[in-house]
Amino acid sequence: MSTNSSSFQFTANSKDPLIITGPCSAETEDQVLNTAQEIKDSTAHVAMFRAGIWKPRTRPNSFEGIGSKGLPWLKKAGELLQVPVCTEVANGRHVEEALKAEIDVLWIGARSTVSPFIVQEIADAMRGVDIPVMVKNPINPDLALWLGAIERVEQAGIKQIAAIHRGFSSYNKSKYRNVPNWEIPIELKRQAPQLTLICDPSHIGGKRELIAPLSQQAMNLQFDGLMIETHHEPDAAWSDAAQQITPSSLAKLLASLRTGQKEASNNNDYPGLKAYRQEIDRLDNYILELLAERMNISAEIGAFKKKEQIAIHQPKRWAATVKRALEIGATNGLSETFILELFQKIHKESIERQSKT
Ligand code: PEP
Ligand code: MN
Repeated sequence: MSTNSSSFQFTANSKDPLIITGPCSAETEDQVLNTAQEIKDSTAHVAMFRAGIWKPRTRPNSFEGIGSKGLPWLKKAGELLQVPVCTEVANGRHVEEALKAEIDVLWIGARSTVSPFIVQEIADAMRGVDIPVMVKNPINPDLALWLGAIERVEQAGIKQIAAIHRGFSSYNKSKYRNVPNWEIPIELKRQAPQLTLICDPSHIGGKRELIAPLSQQAMNLQFDGLMIETHHEPDAAWSDAAQQITPSSLAKLLASLRTGQKEASNNNDYPGLKAYRQEIDRLDNYILELLAERMNISAEIGAFKKKEQIAIHQPKRWAATVKRALEIGATNGLSETFILELFQKIHKESIERQSKT
């Protein structure tokens, strides 16, 4: 379809996931059209075609995108597949050129979402235009920055907005290219339940074999769609070669995806679930009471330390507390990361309580 921009609607909370696919970057007209043709020939049911035209890269001298001359290739791919097309915009000029070329949907990339002035420039360039916009999470795990970018786009009058979760940079070694930190998109959805939430397992995983399990996890967490990079010859891709898959692999992946999992917020629909949830609520209440009791003791110990001129934080005592918690946790089948993060949170609150006395 040569869609006009206003005809596309994001649908949050629908049964079938919205599938956005296409290469990381538009490289040549043949590559874009061959990829689109293979998508068409595969059985994959896709809703939108993607390709990066301007590519913000971490280091200079890598391929930074083909630029505006690739925009008509994208439109041709959209006509071939009868779907809207989307691309990344990283400044006001990109928006103008994409609009001139009648690109149907725009997205703001992770390296732009971090920068309020650039997001504002992009939003200003969209003002008064009826075009759907997708906002990727910032590269750092900062929900407020993600929400802030969404608000800037909203305040420019854009009605159709989706959020794309593409994972977060991490200094720690990880099997992921960008760690998922699922709790962040989950919290985004809690704060903005009407927002369409799309997962980009390609940039989270960074390698082919992680894309299927990440896509399934996104479905289990009730994401509304997936953006998956495909290329007719992934190994020869000019950017993100390791994570791109062929259109036929995409079709296989989608065929094996368990989608349309049921909503069960209402306990009365499933009596079995109700019993489990009552038990969870009872334990949660108990945990909260115990935490309150612990923090009251923190306040008392804070007063004691102050009187005796003892420093609030005692590194050796803290190291011993963590060691003990990790040992008990391990005996009870609780993971090291979970216990460490939990105790860091408790310790932080405890220090605050002690400091207030
Ligand atoms: C992309 O989608 O190709 C891309 C550059 O993504 P991100 O902004 O998530 O890194
Ligand atoms: Mn990419």
